[in-house]
Amino acid sequence: MASPEGIWNPAAECQPRPERERLQLARLRETLAWAASRVAFYRERLPSEPVRDLEDLARLPFTRKADLREHYPFGLFAVDQTDIARIHASSGTRGKPTVVGYTSGDLDVWNEVMARVLVAAGGRPGDLVHVAYGYGLFTGGLGFHQGAERVGMTVVPASSGNTARHCLLLRDLRPAGLGATPSFALHIAETLAEQGVKPGELGLRWGMFGAEPWTQGVRRALETGLGLRAHDVYGLSEIVGPGVSGECEARDGLHIADDHFLPEIVEPDTGRPLPPGRQGELVLTTLTKRALPMIRYRTGDITTLSVEPCRCGRTSARMARLVGRADDMLVIKGVNVFPSEVEGALLDVAELVPHYLLVVDRRATLPRVEVQVEPAPAFFERCGGGLDPALAAVAMLREQVTARLRAALGLSVEVTLMEPRTIPRSEGKAVRVIERTEDARR
Ligand SMILES: [Zn+2]
Repeated sequence: MASPEGIWNPAAECQPRPERERLQLARLRETLAWAASRVAFYRERLPSEPVRDLEDLARLPFTRKADLREHYPFGLFAVDQTDIARIHASSGTRGKPTVVGYTSGDLDVWNEVMARVLVAAGGRPGDLVHVAYGYGLFTGGLGFHQGAERVGMTVVPASSGNTARHCLLLRDLRPAGLGATPSFALHIAETLAEQGVKPGELGLRWGMFGAEPWTQGVRRALETGLGLRAHDVYGLSEIVGPGVSGECEARDGLHIADDHFLPEIVEPDTGRPLPPGRQGELVLTTLTKRALPMIRYRTGDITTLSVEPCRCGRTSARMARLVGRADDMLVIKGVNVFPSEVEGALLDVAELVPHYLLVVDRRATLPRVEVQVEPAPAFFERCGGGLDPALAAVAMLREQVTARLRAALGLSVEVTLMEPRTIPRSEGKAVRVIERTEDARR
C-alpha cells in the first residue's frame, strides 16, 4: 500500500544514506561474486581482489552495448535458460537486437521499482491507467503494465500506434493516468484538439513520459494539451526497463532506485569518474539482478547526479533530466549539438507546434543544417492559409526562430516554415534527425 505521503516503499526510498551505502556495498559484492562465478566474460575481466568500498567500483572495467551484441543472444546470462521467466529485446537499429532476460525474482524487482515511480508521479491504487507504450519485445508496455498492476491500478493495455483508437479510449474510459513516449502523447493531444476535445474534459490527472529525452517546453505542451501533470521516467532494457528512475511531485530530478541500480557519471571520452553535479555519461551497475547482471554499463545517456536530500523525503540519488544520448550528439562544424537543445529553443515560440525535423546535409564540404518547423494552425490562418515569405508575420517568425536557434546552438541554421501537419508525427519513438551523407546511410 502507498503511504499517505505518496511513497510506495518508505523503508527503501527514505532509507538514511549511510545505511543505504552499506546495503549498496553488500549487494555490489554479491553481484560481483555472482557474475564472476557464472559468466565467463566477467570472470576473465573482473579483478580477483574484493572491492573494499563503493569508490573501488571505478577500478572495474565497463560493460558496453557492443559486449551484449558480441555475446548475442545469451552469452552474458548468469542463469540457465530454464531459470529465465521472460525475454525482452532492444529495437536494434543496427543489425541484431540486444537480448535481455529476467528470472522471476528479477521481474519482481522490476515491478517494485516501477511501482515506486508510478506512485511518485501521483498514481494511486484504483486509478485507471492508459498504457500507450509499445507492448512486445520493447520493455515499455509490459514494464508499465506490471508496475501498475502491482500498485493496484486498472490497466488499459492500449499499446502504441493507431492514434484514433487512443483518442476514443481516452475520451470514453476517462483514465486518471497516461504512460506514453512524449512525442506520441503530443500527437494524441493534437488529434484530440482537432476533435474539439478540451483538455479538462478528459479527467487525466498524471502522465509518465519517457523512452526519449524531452524538454521543459514539451512538458508545458503536454500539460496544457492533456490537462495533466507530466512526469519524466527513465529506464533501459539492459538494466531492467522503465523504472530505473522517475520524477516525484517536486520534479527536481529523477529519483534512481539506487538500492537496485548503482549510478555513476563518467567523462564520455575518457571514462574518468566525475563528481556529483558534473555532466557526463550515466553508468549503471545492477545490484540485485540475477539473470543478467550488468557491471558498470555505459548507458550512453548524458546527465548529472545529485545526492542532496529532496523535499519529498526520498533519500535516493537523483539524475537530471536527460540532455540526450552520447550517440545522438551531432557534431556540426565542430559544435556539439543535441537534438533536445533544438527542441528546447523551439518550444518557447508560441506560434509553433511542438514538432520539428533537423536535416543535416553532409554531402557538401561544409555541412548544411536545416530545421523544419511548423506554425500553429491559428498562425497559418492569420496569414491567409499560406506561408508567403513576403508576408511580414511570416518573415518575422522565421527570423525569430533563426535567432533563437543561433543563440541556443552557437551555430547558424536554415529555418524552413512548413505547412500544417506536414512534419511526420510519431506513433512510438520520434525521428527528429535526418542525416544525409554521401553513402546515404540513415
Ligand atoms: Zn523527490
